Amino acid sequence: MPRNRQQNVDPNQPRWALVTGGSRGIGRAVCLRLARAGYRILFTYERNQEQADITLSLLAEQGAVAEALRFDVASSTQCAEVLGAWLGQHADARVEVLVNNAGIRRDNLLFWQTEADWHRVLSVKLDGFFYVTQLLFKRMSAQRYGRIVNMASLSGIKGVAGQTNYAAANGGIIAATKAFALEVARHGITVNAVAPGFVETDMTGELPVEQLRTLVPMQRFGTPEEVAEVVAFLASPGASYITGQVLQVNGGLYT
Ligand code: NAP
Repeated sequence: MPRNRQQNVDPNQPRWALVTGGSRGIGRAVCLRLARAGYRILFTYERNQEQADITLSLLAEQGAVAEALRFDVASSTQCAEVLGAWLGQHADARVEVLVNNAGIRRDNLLFWQTEADWHRVLSVKLDGFFYVTQLLFKRMSAQRYGRIVNMASLSGIKGVAGQTNYAAANGGIIAATKAFALEVARHGITVNAVAPGFVETDMTGELPVEQLRTLVPMQRFGTPEEVAEVVAFLASPGASYITGQVLQVNGGLYT
């Protein structure tokens, strides 16, 4: 009995992976890793054209076919106009993988937190997940195959002081992962989350690395490539019986 049923699959049809927030950091490493796995890459970014161009160059150096789309994942209008338009223009594109990676940090103690920072952090992660996934779901469902990986964080499991907004967003994405996994399991779509600890990217750039790394049993921050490796596993056809799970990538910094 086939374990990983896919219907009407032409082995020569290009397979696409969509990565949100692929211009930098973990998202860029995920793009490069999924390209090595044979995917055409469609990645998104919000504003950093220079970094997006670097990701495109690195992908081209690997011989990958890649495109970048600039829009705010927290805006339903922009998602529909830009990503919706791409999907409309590529009606036959087989998008097998979606990595909801875009996220931001606006840390402050709750007492000092502005309403804008509260909403923005939640919106980029949770609204972004909702808008992008809803656009992609129909196609994956028609294919009866899909791999969705949501980028969460240790903060969403453990809670970190000064990050109530970021912890709420990441706790929310973990809960959404579990619920959505149940909804789509019968469609051949898996939905999992990856929860990194401290990873060397722009997001952690201004943190006191020397002080924080001593909290990690491995005594170091992780690299974007180490996170990308786990995403690539969950996005692979072989990860066919794993869904609704959260894989922690944190150097032993258990919760
Ligand atoms: P990063 O280096 O700051 O990169 C963030 C990426 O998200 C960029 O590509 C950025 O695009 C994009 N982005 C931000 N807001 C967006 C929006 N509204 N619409 C579309 N794209 C948007 O971050 P990172 O460290 O790689 O983090 C990636 C993910 O991992 C996040 O979800 C984060 O919560 C999670 N994470 C990170 C760590 C860590 O230690 N770094 C730990 C745990 C979890 P632009 O380049 O255009 O700004």
